[in-house]
Amino acid sequence: MPYKHYLLIPLFLLSNLVKGQNNFIPQSTEKCGIIPDDETQFSRDARNWGYGYDSLLVDLDRWEAYSYVTIDSLGATVQNRAIWELTISENPEISSNHRIYIHARTHPGEEESFWVTNEIINILISDSPFAEFVRSNCIFHIIPMYNPDGVELGYPRENANGVDIESGWDDIPLEPEVAVLKNRFIELMWTTDNPVEVALNMHSAYSCKRYFVYHDAVGTSDNFTVLEQQFIGGTQSYFPGGFENWDYFVSWTSGTPDQYPESWWWMNHGENVMALTYEDMNCIEAGLYDSTANAILRGTCDYIGLNYSHISEENKVHPMEFSSRQNYPNPFNASTLIPYTITQPGKVTITILDIIGREVLQLANGHHNVGEYLVKWDGMNRFKLQVDSGIYFYRIQVGRVNNTRKMLLIK
Ligand SMILES: [Zn+2]
Repeated sequence: MPYKHYLLIPLFLLSNLVKGQNNFIPQSTEKCGIIPDDETQFSRDARNWGYGYDSLLVDLDRWEAYSYVTIDSLGATVQNRAIWELTISENPEISSNHRIYIHARTHPGEEESFWVTNEIINILISDSPFAEFVRSNCIFHIIPMYNPDGVELGYPRENANGVDIESGWDDIPLEPEVAVLKNRFIELMWTTDNPVEVALNMHSAYSCKRYFVYHDAVGTSDNFTVLEQQFIGGTQSYFPGGFENWDYFVSWTSGTPDQYPESWWWMNHGENVMALTYEDMNCIEAGLYDSTANAILRGTCDYIGLNYSHISEENKVHPMEFSSRQNYPNPFNASTLIPYTITQPGKVTITILDIIGREVLQLANGHHNVGEYLVKWDGMNRFKLQVDSGIYFYRIQVGRVNNTRKMLLIK
């Protein structure tokens, strides 16, 4: 792994942080989680829930190649893994830029929270006019994997101490991961001229719906609930039928809790920060991560008052001449299907690559008309031999634009 910049974390809250290793105690689920018997298909250890820390390191290298992406380690987990943060912006130092914070995968078993975040990153680093405009006017800070220890241990919700780090923001001492993120928030809020305006906490829920966890006025304020409805409704408008209405999951009806990240935001920054938990689907019907990511990004831009109406309508719908979607099933064991949509006719190439980027097979190479397509990969290479279990990529190229996605083959 090449070297990232290490940030100077304010030290005043870093005392008394490290706890000993406790026995692992599974905790009950509430607003998010996985179906309890959803673990029959693969062992936890073998799959890291489909996307492990090594996968993240490969992606960090890829993302870091873009001039407008910076990657930092914010600090260490219980087992001494780095908590990596991407900063995506053309002008990260310009104080008029809007600052947005996104962190994902607090709960390791909620891997969909990563796949949505991955698509947010894909959109932000793309060469579409919308992406260029957003990068020029915003600073996105994104933690794709906030709990890498839990991911590697195959825990559904906990860190290496067996603690659910979604809560405990009011604990003394703090869990190491919570201390790292809280300090980062403090740093951004009190040492920059342009503090965070939107903070999204990415999860997924076995209720098999996409929704934001809405905070009632009893625990916030009347004005804040108006803002929440504006944010959620705005996001929803970019993916009709994709998200539940704002009142699908209402929380904080009996006051302000003090253990969550959103509690910290509310108690310290009130209406100035739209801090919300987002729940993707955690079920077999999960998917459409690109549509979800697109809606969340555009809803966020509208909320912070970024006007991109001068960017053409075509680019609003499809950032590129095509859109690819996540293969399914994924992970897969015999074969998988790759869906994609061509919105401009042209030459299309679909290539399967191994984890170090070597070509395994070309699945398509020829002219496509406008339309929806589905191509199957049966896990064979170009010599008709079965490939090994592991991470593979599929790259769809249309003209000079390409898009790469990851999949996991487990035999
Ligand atoms: Zn969760």
